[in-house]
Amino acid sequence: MKILVINAGSSSLKYQLFDMETETVIAKGVCERIGADGSVLTHKACGESFVYEEPMKNHVDAIALVFKALTADKGGVIKDMNEIDAVGHRVLHGGEKLFDSMLVTPEVEAAIEANIPLGPLHNPANLAGIRACRDMMPGKPQVAVFDTGFHHTMPPKAYIYALPYEYYTKHAARRYGFHGTSHRYVSAEAAKLLGRENDPELRIVTCHLGNGSSFAAVKGGKCVDTSMGITPLEGIPMGTRSGSIDPALLEYIMGLENLDIHQMLNVLNKKSGMLGVSGVSSDFRDLWAAKDQGNERAALALDIFCYDGAKLVASYAAAMGGCDAIVFTAGVGENDNRARAGICSYLEFMGIKLDAEKNNTRGTVDLSAPDSKVKILCIPTNEELVIARDTKALI
Ligand code: AMP
Repeated sequence: MKILVINAGSSSLKYQLFDMETETVIAKGVCERIGADGSVLTHKACGESFVYEEPMKNHVDAIALVFKALTADKGGVIKDMNEIDAVGHRVLHGGEKLFDSMLVTPEVEAAIEANIPLGPLHNPANLAGIRACRDMMPGKPQVAVFDTGFHHTMPPKAYIYALPYEYYTKHAARRYGFHGTSHRYVSAEAAKLLGRENDPELRIVTCHLGNGSSFAAVKGGKCVDTSMGITPLEGIPMGTRSGSIDPALLEYIMGLENLDIHQMLNVLNKKSGMLGVSGVSSDFRDLWAAKDQGNERAALALDIFCYDGAKLVASYAAAMGGCDAIVFTAGVGENDNRARAGICSYLEFMGIKLDAEKNNTRGTVDLSAPDSKVKILCIPTNEELVIARDTKALI
């Protein structure tokens, strides 16, 4: 069985083709600059890269080009699209009603569309990806997997904002959380590694640290709290996102800097976080290099990240009445030993103790010192595989 996984953004579209017998990726790639000049598809298969510099006016053109790459003489891995059994789509915002992965029907499509106000940048792109696949492969089963879905099990005390309650009942304004497929995958892998797969008492804090970062408290395999909110802006400072701030700061700065709300939100999303504090970069590799050369603002940005991250881990231990394991994943969590060490350094009071040598050795999964009271794990995430598995299960 072959399953195509699509992650459609507003001007990009990533794809992976899975062979589900072996759960291996047989081809993958990314279309960039969709709808703009200079659009390009980079396709990887058979250990080689193939670049298609062809116009892509919209997502239909992008999907058509993906199909061309998948079936080409060079770099092609299938004869025609009939070899693809189903398509799984990453959909950002499922809102209150869509959480389990599901086959796309006209009703599901309408519900994703109804959630556009909650995910104004992503949901339209996700829908464009779904519609483009339907146009190119009529009748082929398509599955939607929601980034918010895993967090649906949070109790109201974790997801209700302390605002007038009608904002929740009338406008569905609440915490939703994101990176759900990643938190779900790594928490399940951690439970397996610990030999506690069906243990309702297992308490894990998953730390998805990348360009965007989020934490989740996972008890007995179910999410009970998470750090991102109604949008992916809430939580700890990220590459370019501010994370949580005092909301009244907005009016203060907007007045002094003469910004409207859109400009202010652009600052909070694109010019803040690690980039904003350091003035150097949003990339952790650049930040550590700058810190090593004595850049104090880069050092400060990194310390804020580790400090805020540690506070979230500790608060989730409180939420779950303890913590058995913490899991680091995503670009920073998997690769940045110094960020992991920085976060753990604030948590020694909880008996969280890293083994420095294991932490500094790439590919090590269990990073905990022998006398650590909490397991510290580093598990590569695989959101695409989750989407492919859900798609297979549903068809
Ligand atoms: P993601 O959003 O999960 O793709 O993560 C991307 C981020 O991971 C980059 O912006 C970097 O800050 C970080 N990253 C990737 N590789 C490394 C590395 N070897 N060391 C430190 N940070 C890294």
